Amino acid sequence: MEIFKTKSALKAFLNPLKASGKKIALVPTMGALHNGHISLIDLAKESADIIICSIFVNPTQFTDPKDLEKYPRPIEHDLAMLNQAGCHGVFMPTVEEMYPQGADENWHIDLGNAEFLLEGAFRKGHYQGVTQIVKKLFDAVEPDVAMFGQKDFQQVLMIKNMVAYFNLPIILITCPIIREEDGLAMSSRNIHLTAIDRENSLVLSKSLQFVINNFEKLPLTELENRAKLFYQNLSGIDLDYFTIANGNTLEPAKSKNELNIIALVAAKVGSTRLIDNMIIR
Ligand code: AMP
Repeated sequence: MEIFKTKSALKAFLNPLKASGKKIALVPTMGALHNGHISLIDLAKESADIIICSIFVNPTQFTDPKDLEKYPRPIEHDLAMLNQAGCHGVFMPTVEEMYPQGADENWHIDLGNAEFLLEGAFRKGHYQGVTQIVKKLFDAVEPDVAMFGQKDFQQVLMIKNMVAYFNLPIILITCPIIREEDGLAMSSRNIHLTAIDRENSLVLSKSLQFVINNFEKLPLTELENRAKLFYQNLSGIDLDYFTIANGNTLEPAKSKNELNIIALVAAKVGSTRLIDNMIIR
């Protein structure tokens, strides 16, 4: 497995491979890797010959400087996991390499109204930062395919919009959520959970599963209200939102007959903010 710190070193590695017809997949991450990330690497192998994983904690997508500061960075462990998974190259640039003009460089594109809903409402400017760095990573790698997790469902929508905005010839593949045995969605942030937080965290997957199990039986508003009740008597957990939404617009679903429906949740568990979702159809 090769490690690249600069765009030029990465291009020097990739150019001959591309010239010989190899398909390239990019798996963008912020590191602190777990089996969810590795599942993206495994799925990438089905669509490409060469797998590049990027590890970059992108400052422009953090709204809370403390969150950026405490973001875990276990780089030796990450590299061992990627090597084991059969990743071919790791791109781990510095902030200066990605933002030569400084991280406050100008970037704004129209991502549609969904930018401002859910995560976008709680983390102002988050998706501008996300699409800014993903465009830079796409420019550096010029992959044929790029892998993203359904775990960050709204992020996938925003990246699709960015790819359409620039008309990029990149196939996006959305990968299923990998969970711990008890249902908690794997996340780099889970290591911050205390023992009590870890118990409380199960309410996210349980409330989503409740909606899945009762979707045919109960009206939409009752489903949502009863899912929110799961959070009511738990101390140490603050619900940011629980919504049953249209999977294209992220607006609340108006009818069960809509084509794509998804339940999404975000909650602060102790001092750690977690998100999760389940696709209803
Ligand atoms: P992150 O390092 O959190 O930016 O995540 C990198 C990629 O891994 C994103 O596309 C995430 O959606 C995806 N990912 C994160 N957690 C999971 C999970 N539990 N299962 C599958 N993919 C995930």
